[in-house]
Amino acid sequence: MRTVAVVGASLAGLRAVEELRAQGFDGRIAVIGDEPYQPYDRPPLSKAYLAGTCAPESLRLADQSDTDDLAAEWRLGVRADSLDPLTRSVRLSSGEEITADGVVIATGGRARQLPGSEGLAGVHTVRTLDDAAALRADLENSSAGVVVIGGGWIGSEVASTCHALGRPVTVVEANPTPLARVLGPAMGSVCAALHTDHGVALRTGVGVRSLTSAGLGPWKRVTGVDLADGTHLPADVVVVGIGMLPNTEWLTGSGIPVDNGVLCDAGCVTAFPSVVAVGDVARYHGPDGPVRHEHWTNASEQPATAVRNLLAGTTIEEYRPSGYFWSDQYGTRLQVAGHPADADEVTIVDGSPNDRRFVAEYRRRGAAVGVLAMNNPKLFGRLRRQLRDRAVV
Ligand code: FAD
Ligand code: NAP
Repeated sequence: MRTVAVVGASLAGLRAVEELRAQGFDGRIAVIGDEPYQPYDRPPLSKAYLAGTCAPESLRLADQSDTDDLAAEWRLGVRADSLDPLTRSVRLSSGEEITADGVVIATGGRARQLPGSEGLAGVHTVRTLDDAAALRADLENSSAGVVVIGGGWIGSEVASTCHALGRPVTVVEANPTPLARVLGPAMGSVCAALHTDHGVALRTGVGVRSLTSAGLGPWKRVTGVDLADGTHLPADVVVVGIGMLPNTEWLTGSGIPVDNGVLCDAGCVTAFPSVVAVGDVARYHGPDGPVRHEHWTNASEQPATAVRNLLAGTTIEEYRPSGYFWSDQYGTRLQVAGHPADADEVTIVDGSPNDRRFVAEYRRRGAAVGVLAMNNPKLFGRLRRQLRDRAVV
């Protein structure tokens, strides 16, 4: 293998380049990223960066000398428009065509938009540095209420940050309990109570009917949110956090199977042995069928396996996710490992939800499958290691 093209210049793309070099690949690496920035970290976008306590420079995932050491060619601000997997040519928006022996797909995802909100000033999603900068500027220039649509991870973290900035905040979640799909209803309720603990209003089990606005053309600006039950929530800033969509459209016509992500085998190899997928965009074959993870640790760890298989020309190693992620909200650290959604039972094994410091263990048919901790990293670390030893993660 002489040339590898890595498409997507964020966390998973950078880790793939690092793994290529660490695993001895000394050929040409071309990295294509449609954002105009060197790889940066997204978790602070909804937290410290939005709060104004972290500068954009500190978001960089690698400093310049480490990036230089990788000896890769970076095409930033340039989109990959198509891939021909037979000739392994990646066609770029600049008109350039890169022919490679191997391709790493690391194109992640984009924020799902609320239909009808396009082009309306004051309405934001948070996926990119530019998104977070625009929201931050809007928060600085306005003073009325913030409505957050979606009580998932983005919604919860942005609500917490807006609250810390002194803004009145309401979170609207269509499901009866936020985060229940991931943590189950009992622990979802406990985590959602962080909002109400801090005086942030939480409206659950009610959908959004429409956004209201004033002004015309480019001056049209959101004025509030109408809920399905007839309530009107006034707002001059609305943040939409209703999930993400994997960036796979550029693969149309490539012959690479795509279905809610790039389909790959247990080792992140697509239908073509010379093309692998990593990070948020990769839907690989797990023990219970195709699965896609949308968390930092997965995007960081998955490239090691994918690159090993790419360089071997076949799947010699299967990916084992650690299933770890964290969230920081209202000064509280939540940590999750394993597969809580698979559990049929959840037990508090330390502390108390009432004290907002506890550890919960998730079990299926009596066997531990996951762990959730609120403000208890030490015990969490021990139980996480036990899950790993038992090969749950
Ligand atoms: P992405 O980060 O989405 O990067 C994909 C890159 O590819 C992007 O730059 C994209 O523009 C580019 N791209 C897409 N299509 C093309 C194309 N055709 N050509 C060229 N480039 C293309 N996870 C946690 O575990 N804990 C957290 O606290 C946490 N906080 C988060 C906060 C926010 C605001 C967000 C958005 C995410 C957070 N996450 C968190 C999730 C974590 O950041 C993601 O799982 C991780 O960024 C995924 O990395 P990735 O490289 O796979 O994809
Ligand atoms: P998410 O975690 O999927 O949560 C979206 C929430 O919005 C879900 O509860 C969803 O309900 C709900 N929803 C969907 N459509 C809605 C609608 N029309 N009205 C009201 N609620 C609606 O996604 P996210 O919070 O937007 O985050 C986006 C991505 O960033 C994800 O990949 C996430 O993992 C990542 N992220 C991670 C972290 C972290 O790990 N700490 C932090 C921030 C972001 P359903 O479940 O029923 O669809």
